[in-house]
Amino acid sequence: MTPLKPGSTIGIIGGGQLGRLMSLEAARLGFDVHIYCPEKNSPAARVSADETVAAYTDEAALRAFSRVCDAVTYEFENIPATSVAIIEAVGTPVRPGAKALDVSQDRAQEKRFLQKLGIPTVAFETLGPEMSLQQALDTFGGAGILKTRREGYDGKGQAVIQGGDDIDGLEKAEVLAAEAPCILEAFAPFEREVSVIVARNETEALTFDISENIHENGILARAIAPANISDDTRRAAIEAGTKLADALGYIGVLGLELFVMPDGAVLANEFAPRVHNSGHWTPEACMTGQFEQHIRAVAGWPLGPVERMFDIEMANLLGDQVSNIPAAYNGNVRIVSYGKRDAKPGRKMAHITKRNRS
Ligand code: ADP
Ligand code: MG
Repeated sequence: MTPLKPGSTIGIIGGGQLGRLMSLEAARLGFDVHIYCPEKNSPAARVSADETVAAYTDEAALRAFSRVCDAVTYEFENIPATSVAIIEAVGTPVRPGAKALDVSQDRAQEKRFLQKLGIPTVAFETLGPEMSLQQALDTFGGAGILKTRREGYDGKGQAVIQGGDDIDGLEKAEVLAAEAPCILEAFAPFEREVSVIVARNETEALTFDISENIHENGILARAIAPANISDDTRRAAIEAGTKLADALGYIGVLGLELFVMPDGAVLANEFAPRVHNSGHWTPEACMTGQFEQHIRAVAGWPLGPVERMFDIEMANLLGDQVSNIPAAYNGNVRIVSYGKRDAKPGRKMAHITKRNRS
C-alpha cells in the first residue's frame, strides 16, 4: 500500500462524532477530509474540508465522492455493502474493507465468525422457521436477551426477558421478533465489561490498554483505563482482538467488546469495525489516540506508539448533561464536544476525560 501524502483527500462515510474526531486528527496530519452524510450540517462536515450530502444508496453521488477521494473509510457500520462495492469499482480503496463490514452487520454471523476463530461468545440461538422464540427461551431456562440481527446500537433493537412471569419483556421480544430477523442470547452473568481497541495496518497490529466499560440502559456511560483484571484476562482479551483483526485482514481501528466472567475468562459480545466509544480516553492518555491511529492505518502510514501514560477515566455526556458546559466542568477535566445542535434525551453530545491518580 503506497502511503498517502499529506494533501491527499480521505473520505469518511458518516457525519457523527466519530467522523468528526477522525477528521480533526486527519487535518492535523495534513489530509483534507471529505464527509459523505445524508444530513446537512453534520458534526463531522462542520470541521472538514468538503462534504457530500446524499443518501448512502445514491450511486451517482457515491461515484462522484469516490473520484475526489484517495482512500475512503467509514464511521458507522450500517452502510450498505453495495455502497462499498460502488466506491471500490471506481478504484478508490475502502479501509477497512467489505469483509469486516459484512461480518459485523449481522449478529449471528459475527458470533459464528468469532467462534470459528476460537474466540468464545455468549450462547445464542438464531430464530427462524426451525427455532421459535419460545423454543429458544426454553434452551436458556426461560430467560435471555432478544436482539435484532442487524442495525442495533446503544441497546436499541433489544428486549430483555427476565424469565418467570416477565410478560412485558416477552411481549416486547415478540414484537421485535415479528418485525425483523433476531437472535436470542443467554444472559452472561459477567463480573465486568471490558473492550480491546486494536489498530492494524499491513505490517503490524497494536492494542491499546484494556478499559473497563460501565453501561447504563444499554449505553456506554464510562470507560476506565486500566481495567481491574488479571494478567491472564488481559492477555486473553488482547489475543482475541488481535486474532480477529488478523482474520479480517483488517486495516484501521476496531473495538471488540468482551464480558469478563467470574473465573476471569472472556466472552466476546460484539465488535465494531471502526473507532469505538470505549477508546475515547486514548487521545488524552496515549501518544497516539485511536482516531489518529485509524487515519494512519487508512493512509498506509506506520502506526504510532500506544502506551498509556497515566490512569484515566472517560464519561459520556448525554442529552442536557451538556447544558452546564463549561461551568460544571472546570478544573481537572478535558472536554470534547461534538457540536450537535439538538440535545435530545439520551443523545451522545460530548465526553469528558479525567486523569486518575494511580
Ligand atoms: P449494542 O449494539 O446496543 O451495543 P450490545 O450487544 O453491546 O448491543 O448490548 C448492550 C449492552 O447490554 C452490553 O454492553 C451489556 O451491558 C448488555 N448485554 C448485552 N448482551 C448481554 C448478554 N448476553 N448478557 C448480559 N448482558 C448483556
Ligand atoms: Mg455494544
